[in-house]
Formats: sequence, C-alpha cells, structure tokens
Amino acid sequence: MSMHRKGFDALMEIIARPELIFVRGQGSWLEDHAGKRYLDFVQGWAVNSLGHQAPEIVAALERQARLLINPSAAFYNQPAIDLALRLVQASCFDRIFFANSGAEANEGAIKLARKWGQKHRDGAYRIITFEHAFHGRTLATMSASGKEGWDRKFPPQVEGFPKARLNDLASVRALIDEQTVAVMLEPVQGEGGVIPATPAFMQALRSLTREHGLLLIVDEVQTGMGRTGRLFAYQHADVEPDIMTLGKGIGGGVPLAALCAREAVSCFDPGDQGGTYNGNPLMTAVGVAVFDALTAPGFLDDVNARAQLLSTGLLSLCEKWGLPGERGLGLLRVLELDGDHGPALVEAARERSPEGLLLNSPRNNLLRFMPALNVTADEIETLLKWLDGLIGQVCTA
Ligand SMILES: *Cc1c(COP(=O)(O)O)cnc(C)c1O
Repeated sequence: MSMHRKGFDALMEIIARPELIFVRGQGSWLEDHAGKRYLDFVQGWAVNSLGHQAPEIVAALERQARLLINPSAAFYNQPAIDLALRLVQASCFDRIFFANSGAEANEGAIKLARKWGQKHRDGAYRIITFEHAFHGRTLATMSASGKEGWDRKFPPQVEGFPKARLNDLASVRALIDEQTVAVMLEPVQGEGGVIPATPAFMQALRSLTREHGLLLIVDEVQTGMGRTGRLFAYQHADVEPDIMTLGKGIGGGVPLAALCAREAVSCFDPGDQGGTYNGNPLMTAVGVAVFDALTAPGFLDDVNARAQLLSTGLLSLCEKWGLPGERGLGLLRVLELDGDHGPALVEAARERSPEGLLLNSPRNNLLRFMPALNVTADEIETLLKWLDGLIGQVCTA
C-alpha cells in the first residue's frame, strides 16, 4: 500500500480509522485509493439518503453554486424559503430554522424550549431525556445524551437533563417537577442500538406532556426524511410533537439540519439564534432536491418494500445461524448477534475481497444497516449473500 502514515497524522485522531482513502462514490458503492469497491450499508451514517453522488444533488449543487452561495443568514434566500415551505406543508410544524448539523439543531431545540420556559413556565428549564439516547457532541447535546460514561467526559456537564427509561412512562413521570419544561427523545434510538419507542409510549408521552404543560421534542436527525418508511417517524405513532429536529438524510450528504417548531412554541426574540452558514442557499437548494426525490409518488412505498426485503432476509439468516433476531423501522435496522461479534464482522466485511462491504456495529452484539433509501433489491440480495458467508466465517470460528 502506497500510503503515508504522515499524511494521516496531520488529522486529529478522533476515531480509529482503517488505512484507506475513499476517492469516489456512486449510488450504493464506494471506491478506495486502490480501486477496490465497497457495497455501502452505512452511507455516511444514514446521511446519503439518495446514495453517493445522486444526480439530483450534483445538479442542485452545480446550479446553485453558479447563482448564489451565501448572502448571509441576515437576508432571505429562495432555496431556504422553498425548503421551509415544503417542511411546513408536510409536517405539523409552522416555523423552520436551518442549521448545519444535527447537534446544532438539537442545541437550538434546547434553547427554544428554555426560552419558552422563561416566557410561559416561570423559568422552567429541565428537559427529560433518556438512557442510551444520542443527541450530538456539543456540550449541551452530550449532556442530553444518555450514552454510558458520557456524563464524566467533559465535566462539568450542562445541567438540566434528567434521564428516564425508554418505553417506561412511570420513569418519566417520576422525574417531572416545577423546573421541567420538556421531554425529548428519538422515536427510534439509533446509536443506542435501533430501539424503537412504541407508538403506545409516544402517545402516552404526548398525553403526559400535555397534562403537565410540557413540550414534546422529537430528535429525528436519524429517523426523519423517510428513513423509517414515513417522512417523519413521529407519524407512525400518530402524535403531534411541539418541536422536531432533522439532520443527516435531509441534506443527502451535505451539511444541513433543521429545527422545526409549532407557531405557539416558536418564541425566539431577535438575536437569540443564528449562525454564519445557517440556511445558506447552497445547502438548502440540495435540501429541496432531496425533499422532492423523497416525496415523489411511490418513493416511500419503495423504501417500505426494500425494508421488508431486508427484514425478511435478515430473519432467514437468524434462522439459519441461530441468531436472536432483527428489528428496526424502515431502512434503519439491526441484526442481533449471538455474541460480541459486531466489530470482527465489520472488519471482515470491509476487508472482504475482491469487493468489500461497509457495515456498522453500534453495540458489540449488533450490526446496523442504514443503506441509501433508493438501495436496489439486487444490492440487498448481495448484502444478504455476503453476510451469510461472513457470519459463517466469523461467528462460527
Ligand atoms: C447523528 C445524530 C445526531 C447528531 O448529528 P450531527 O450532525 O452528527 O451533529 C443527533 N441526534 C441523533 C438522533 C443522531 O442520530
């Protein structure tokens, strides 16, 4: 391998990365510096909703780059308005603030809830979040997250995020006090291991929050924009939250995120929220292209058909190899392994030849699948065939 460790060392080591450099992408496939191809079931962590180099996205970037890249967040621009209108029409929300990452959108949600607490709830500010939740990597969103050990990483934490247990209403009720302003959750805990909140729990949370005058905030950074087979995951439970955040798939690979709020909750005063790049037309033009692709007739039906194919295929692997099971919603799924084989499987899959396979293991006993939403049936069949071989090679060794 003609690679220079020195080049890698110019980057901060934030995670153990394999010594490859990806140079090109196309749909569900990536190619590295040596010309080896990889079937990609990670897709930038559920980010490339239309796959690599989707023609709609490339065209939107080219068109918008020639017109206008960034007039400043202090002026209106047409793509931001167009995308906001689409989101408002497709959801129960009335106002949109665009951000550049999921964590930033969640910071905005936390600020908005605290502002609403100042205005309407006598300064209440605490936001009940959940064990194993993941909301991002800024100080406040790390504090809101329920990842093991994160409470001790960068002390002191941002205060005001007591943790309840998912699908356990009593654990939420027990944390409500005078200072509570909101409950915030992922409709499916993604990084936590693809654990869905049940529709019954979502509905009970909505009633409980109404009863106590609290806001319900859904973090749909991973579950939003068609990932679960509906445009937004909250729609599976037939509840209407007060605030929603979007990220990942909304930009189809470019940095774009959104904070969505109902009119009554949209209470920022001028100067409370903003940012140099927020809502810039280059990224929001891509957002419009992605939105239009995801909402084209039949697109979400296809997502659900592919999800069914993937789920059925994973279940037959469970039967064949005696694995505990699979779960998920739409094209956000995990396969449960009969031991901590996840990291070894991820590595063997990547090193597979002549073609590799990119997978993710959010916990050591889980493999997660988050392909492009337009993944083909053939690509799913290929994944299942290769996975069969890999399980035989790694898990029975
Ligand atoms: C990925 C993720 C985030 C953080 O998004 P970034 O764009 O990485 O900041 C927040 N919440 C959930 C549910 C996520 O999956």
